[in-house]
Amino acid sequence: MTQPRTALQVVTRFAPSPTGYMHLGHAYAAIFAWNAARERNGRFLLRIEDIDRDRCRPEFEDAIFEDLHWLGLDWAGQPRRQSDNMSDYKRALNKLHALDLLYPCFCTRKEIQAEISNADAAPHNTDGPIYPGICRTLTPKERDVRLSSGVPYALRLDMTKAHAITGPLTWNDREQGINNADAAAGDVVLARKDVPTSYHLAVTLDDHRQRVTLVTRGMDLFHSSSVHRLLQSLLGLNIPEWQHHKLIMSKDGRRLSKRGRALTISALRRAGESPASVRSMVGFD
Ligand code: GLU
Repeated sequence: MTQPRTALQVVTRFAPSPTGYMHLGHAYAAIFAWNAARERNGRFLLRIEDIDRDRCRPEFEDAIFEDLHWLGLDWAGQPRRQSDNMSDYKRALNKLHALDLLYPCFCTRKEIQAEISNADAAPHNTDGPIYPGICRTLTPKERDVRLSSGVPYALRLDMTKAHAITGPLTWNDREQGINNADAAAGDVVLARKDVPTSYHLAVTLDDHRQRVTLVTRGMDLFHSSSVHRLLQSLLGLNIPEWQHHKLIMSKDGRRLSKRGRALTISALRRAGESPASVRSMVGFD
């Protein structure tokens, strides 16, 4: 007789960056992840994505804790803080280096933009133009000259080489179904010029370390999941499921942003709104 399979406990997470105060979009993402765990008797975790030391502030981090508590969202264990785990990211980069999958990119934003505007048909995905590969084709000599001149550089993943190693990959989104992990994102940055990791690398490793089984996040990051699936395969990490959700828009149909004038949760709280009214503003009862 076959034994019933023990269902893996669902683990979700909310992973804000403390670069501003939480707005209704963050509240929606946090409640969504919390509900996804709660409905399945699982665990909800918190992660502070603070690799961008110049933009992160302790007061924003404190406000995240306060806002989540106020909304009634509790998390299991200590929050994981990305800035505490730089050595983990470094080890992963070394592994990718050893596979010869990284190359230094010296381009400035301006140079990338100029190259894209000069191209007849610059490849795009829904996140915008993709990196046109300028530094991928540098000769070893050109690379050495630039490296020894001390110009700052990022490290990019050579997508073509990476996919040649893994072969075709798929990933499952609970709402959208099976997706091919294609190379549409282009040669993404895995270590920034100013920070020795990047969003893609840190998120993928952290979801593995925190044993996240269901990654929930906004549709704006849908294409990133193909990059993360590829990294999971290259680095031998767990493969979760995904669920990308709608984005909360402002009344005039724009995406809420920290830099814009989106109403923050703390402002709503100060204005006398209740947690229940904030929940209902984003469509939860
Ligand atoms: N730190 C990311 C953000 O605030 C979260 C990304 C993710 O959930 O993967 O947008």
